[in-house]
Amino acid sequence: MNDSLTRRDLLRWSALLGGSALLASCGLQAPPIADLPLNTHAVTAPNISSTTTWKAQPPKEPITLLDARPTRIIVHHTASANVTDYSQAQAFSLARSIQQSHFDRGWIDSGQQFTISRGGYVVEGRHRSLEAAQGGTRHVRGAHCDGFNDVSVGIENEGTYMTVSPPAGQYSALVSLCAWLCQQYGIPATELYGHRDFNNTACPGDLLYSQLPQLRKDVAARVGVSVRIWPTTRSGQTGDRVRSAQRLLISHGQSLTADGSYGPATASAVSAFQSSAGLTPDGVIGSATWERLIRTVRRGDSGPAVQAAQGQLAARGYAVTVDGLFGAGTESAVRSFQSSRGLTSDGIVGPNTWHALES
Ligand SMILES: [Zn+2]
Repeated sequence: MNDSLTRRDLLRWSALLGGSALLASCGLQAPPIADLPLNTHAVTAPNISSTTTWKAQPPKEPITLLDARPTRIIVHHTASANVTDYSQAQAFSLARSIQQSHFDRGWIDSGQQFTISRGGYVVEGRHRSLEAAQGGTRHVRGAHCDGFNDVSVGIENEGTYMTVSPPAGQYSALVSLCAWLCQQYGIPATELYGHRDFNNTACPGDLLYSQLPQLRKDVAARVGVSVRIWPTTRSGQTGDRVRSAQRLLISHGQSLTADGSYGPATASAVSAFQSSAGLTPDGVIGSATWERLIRTVRRGDSGPAVQAAQGQLAARGYAVTVDGLFGAGTESAVRSFQSSRGLTSDGIVGPNTWHALES
């Protein structure tokens, strides 16, 4: 993001105390252990200080509890100072400051559902968020990400992470909180995003944003599931991966030009595809969308999905013609690419091969 944007984000936050943003909400409860998939292990709830514990003021209006689980987690930074006070007292003080600043903006309560201090203390943000998360079936509507407050849990991380990363203890608390929320709500570990993925903001900072792929991996490991983490592909990006996604969208009947530039037409085609696939139509190609977008292609197949695979092979230096016809030459290139990546060399472009091609 450019400097002016960053500065605007900082100013917005400082108006509130340092943060901008809005925070979100979540609520849930964990399913009984017996209902968990066998390949997962129960994630222990992190120690989360409730609004009562940090002496929050009462909300200005009743909190809205939606009768649906959130489907994603959105990571924020508060854009406030990178303090060196790692005490619990600082975490509570921060929580009170954010609540007051959000009241000052006319909001009914803290915007986000949870906050993590630089010292790694986790506190409840908006009232009832903890109760909702413990239940696992309901979501507290927050105010942290325009357009996505009904479907996302917002986590504010104290600090400004444009040029530095969060302290180890704070990151570790973030992994623990996300893993627990994923477990409670059945949110896939792949569905962790940064505020900038959906709104025009520098939040959660360049450095913290760049750590999100690792965060997804760390959360998946904590939850005990094996997942493919795909690159978040979205508006403003250009290149081979965008062109490949566009070809795959065309293969699903969307009408757009595969020009390698992710503009409004691509975002709209992505949203339309997501709606048709039963996904949240956000116009951003995250892991859940990639998994639905790819199509297994093999020798004898033809069309834009084949072209997408050929385009990615060609971009990696394989001598294939990007003609949309999966013949012997394409099959040979696929086998060779698979061998180079330690994948089964079967010449078929299935999910793991697609993942390697797009990553
Ligand atoms: Zn934010």
